[in-house]
Amino acid sequence: MKIVSVLFLYTLAVINNAWCSGIPQIKLNDGREIPGFGLGTWLGIAKGGQGLEPVKDDSVQKAVEWAIDAGYRHIDTARIYETEQQIGEAIKKKIAEGTVKREELFITTKLWNDAHARDEVVPALRQSLKELNLDYVDLYLIHWPLAHFTNLTFEIIDYLDTWEGMVEAQQLGLTKSIGVSNFNKDQLERLISNSKVKPAALQIEVNLNLQQSVLRDYCKEHNIAVTGYTPFGSLFPSKAAPNAPPPRVDDPALVKIAKKYNKSVPQIALRYLVDLGVIPIPKSTTKSRLEQNIDVFDFELTQPEKDLMKSYDRGYRSVEPKMWIQHPEYPFEKN
Ligand code: NDP
Repeated sequence: MKIVSVLFLYTLAVINNAWCSGIPQIKLNDGREIPGFGLGTWLGIAKGGQGLEPVKDDSVQKAVEWAIDAGYRHIDTARIYETEQQIGEAIKKKIAEGTVKREELFITTKLWNDAHARDEVVPALRQSLKELNLDYVDLYLIHWPLAHFTNLTFEIIDYLDTWEGMVEAQQLGLTKSIGVSNFNKDQLERLISNSKVKPAALQIEVNLNLQQSVLRDYCKEHNIAVTGYTPFGSLFPSKAAPNAPPPRVDDPALVKIAKKYNKSVPQIALRYLVDLGVIPIPKSTTKSRLEQNIDVFDFELTQPEKDLMKSYDRGYRSVEPKMWIQHPEYPFEKN
């Protein structure tokens, strides 16, 4: 009886760790490491397109708890998502249960555009830490290179000044690493050539329709880790804009590859991003899907399969905040 229970517990432990095994740890240019796969926690744009989807129940807390059980150790959030508090609750619970230690987790949050003044950065991070109920985050990112007031009118603050505030936050130990998000190559180059501290990571949209080879190559050359947001792009018809290029999740060529490995199309799309050297951060608040998403480290795509997936690159953005298009630091194409 005793042996059977020990075996049962052992099997459970193996299953529990199965998903996390094989996730690469990626070395950052500041000497720390980031897990090569993470969980996104943005609930998206509200139905009807007006503002963000409100956080009204405990779905994010539950998702983070399930994710930690499934082997996720890297969680992505931002001040603007309003999910920091629920993430904090989930982390507190999982640490109290003994499932993880704080130092095994990698938590990223982001500075919102209304706190770009140099002296606003540290207080903004302290506010995020209060919500997260943490003493430090692992990575703090400037969410966008542009600043605006709370009422959305544009504010002109040089991101080099904002970066000085980020460096101070790191020196104070409030964040282990610092980086940026949605910076284009020119903005990244200017930041690097004018600062003593190089960003450790760049977070940008990467998916089949937007493979970002120019920025990825630049980051490789400068040893900057690339985190890929909206990793599914337009794969799901319910999320795809009417003009979005293919493929969709029922694309016959992708279905054939997925079947070959006994995986789903979302899984092979994520695996392809891993092969590009990108750290995908898919969002899901559905237990079965978040478990499925991280289960992509036990097979390898062949070169012809990767070539096919490369052919879907159209430079097409799913996330395009046109309301900021007139801002001098708008980072994307203006046409
Ligand atoms: P994703 O590409 O991660 O897509 C999320 C959607 O896909 C949800 O509707 C989810 O539904 C669904 N989904 C997830 N897994 C599956 C699956 N296996 N099968 C079918 N459907 C699935 O988009 P996001 O825009 O959320 O990007 C991911 C994360 O990146 C964000 O949550 C956020 O953390 C970050 N981000 C950062 C940005 C930045 O400016 N820095 C901008 C945008 C995102 P469900 O939850 O119901 O399962």
